[in-house]
Formats: sequence, C-alpha cells, structure tokens
Amino acid sequence: MTAIDGLPPLRAVIAAHDLQARKALGQNFLLDLNLTAKIARAAGDLSGADVLEIGPGPGGLTRGLLAEGARRVVAVEKDARCLPALAEIAAAYPGRLEVIHGDALAFDAAAHLQSPIHIVANLPYNVGTELLVRWLTPAVWPPFWQSLTLMFQKEVAERIVARPGSSAYGRLALLVQWRAEARIVLRLPPEAFTPAPKVHSAVVHITRRAEPLYPANPVTLGQITTAAFGQRRKMLRSSLRGLGPDIEQQLLAADIEPTARAEEISLEKFCALARIVETGRGIS
Ligand code: SAM
Repeated sequence: MTAIDGLPPLRAVIAAHDLQARKALGQNFLLDLNLTAKIARAAGDLSGADVLEIGPGPGGLTRGLLAEGARRVVAVEKDARCLPALAEIAAAYPGRLEVIHGDALAFDAAAHLQSPIHIVANLPYNVGTELLVRWLTPAVWPPFWQSLTLMFQKEVAERIVARPGSSAYGRLALLVQWRAEARIVLRLPPEAFTPAPKVHSAVVHITRRAEPLYPANPVTLGQITTAAFGQRRKMLRSSLRGLGPDIEQQLLAADIEPTARAEEISLEKFCALARIVETGRGIS
C-alpha cells in the first residue's frame, strides 16, 4: 500500500535501501507516517516557511513536513546510505527538498535557508543538546530561526521546560526560557521507534522571544548559573564564592537569601543577580 504522497511505506524503503539502523549515528527511526505528520503539525503553520531538518534518515519526518505544506525543506544527513531514499522524496516533491550530505555540527544553516525558518528534527541524541545550545546562543539575538520542534530523550525535554523547585530545573531550563518559550507537545514510548531505544522520548516546541525575558549579560548569567548549579546542593553564598568577595551582599541586593540553593531561584532573580555582579565589576 502506498502512502498519501505516493511513495512506498517506510519499511519498504528501509528494506529496498538496506538501511540497517546504526547505533553510533543515533539511528532510531520513526516509521509511522501519521506520527511524523503529527510532529510536523506541532511545528505550526509551515506554509510559506523554510524548514531545516537534522538527520532525516529514511525520510519519515521529511515526508511529514512536505505533506504538511512546508515551502522548502533543507535536510542535513550524515549517513550516505540514506541519500538514495531521500532522493526519491526529492523527486516526488520537485524543487522543495534539498538534501545535504554532511555533519549538522559543521553546517551553516543561515546560508541555505530563507526566512521565516523553522527547525524540526528527530535528533540524534548524541548531538541534540549541543545543537540546542548553539541555536540558543548565537552572537546576536534574535537568531535565524523562528521555532524549534525537536525530539529529545524524555529527561532532557523535562529539563528544558522545568520550573524552579523541581530537580530537573537547572542551566538548560534557564538558557532556553530566558530567550524562548518552551513546552512539551508530544510524549512517545520506546516502541514508537525502530529499533526501540531504551528511553522514553518527548517533542519540545520552542518559540524564540523577540528579546530575552529580563536584561542580563549572557556571559555573566552563564558564569553564575554554571557555578550555582555545578554545586546545586550547596548554599549560594558558598557555590558562588568564586564570583567575588561581595557575593553575599550582591545576593541580598538581588533579593536572594544567601543560604538558598540554586534550585529555588527564578530566572528573574538570576538575571537581577547578573546585573548586580556586572555593576560590581564596574562594567555597567
Ligand atoms: N528523522 C529520522 C526519523 O525520524 O526516522 C531519523 C532520526 S534518527 C533518531 C537520527 C538521524 O540523524 C539518523 O538518520 C542519523 O544518521 C543522523 N545523524 C546522526 N548524527 C548526525 C550529524 N552529526 N549530522 C547530521 N545527521 C546526523
């Protein structure tokens, strides 16, 4: 039976091109085209937008993105074995799919896509967090993308959307939520993938803010949150001691109890502390 796009079912594609999943490349494929269409829809209205997809593999999500109306999809895949299968999809959607054989970590997306740009991916777990951090820390804000719709291991997804007071709350939550809004839009059990991974997964939808939620120097904010969560069980007056001799007064000035722990402190207060530490250094 052929799918809505006239292309063969993904199991047939995998058999025809002998795409045995390779663990080293983080290959856990989505073979249910209803599910990949659902992920594509979670990215919002893609008509009139370019989409960057990382790791298309046999192309299930790619087909979802094209069927859901993306203007153009640029898909970066490291595994050359997948290229013939992806070429078949490109032929079924003339002029709308560009496949790049390469490493997503070395890819200059802005040079290949036109605004508005959305990033959608069932990411290889070994590079997912690194790509997310890069997309959230460009030299200038706003970044080249409007939204990110990304599959993560469930625990990573929970760290991204975590609120103060939870054990998942930490640097990743602060980094994402400072510059973007994030929510989990779909949770998937291991059996949704072929082969099934050991972990559960979740799709996170992240939309960029026009500017960070509270003013702060990103370098200072990063230094503070790295130190605070690097020793998350310690009181802040102790974990932040390395920032300078005045840290206890600076914490108080930011309305933070020096005996509090990082996990209890809101993004707003971390930003207030970053501004006070900057002033103390004579920078602002
Ligand atoms: N998108 C497909 C799907 O949903 O079925 C495949 C997802 S699989 C989890 C991850 C894909 O990323 C694989 O096809 C793998 O070859 C590819 N990949 C792994 N590391 C990569 C990298 N550094 N750059 C680009 N692609 C990569």
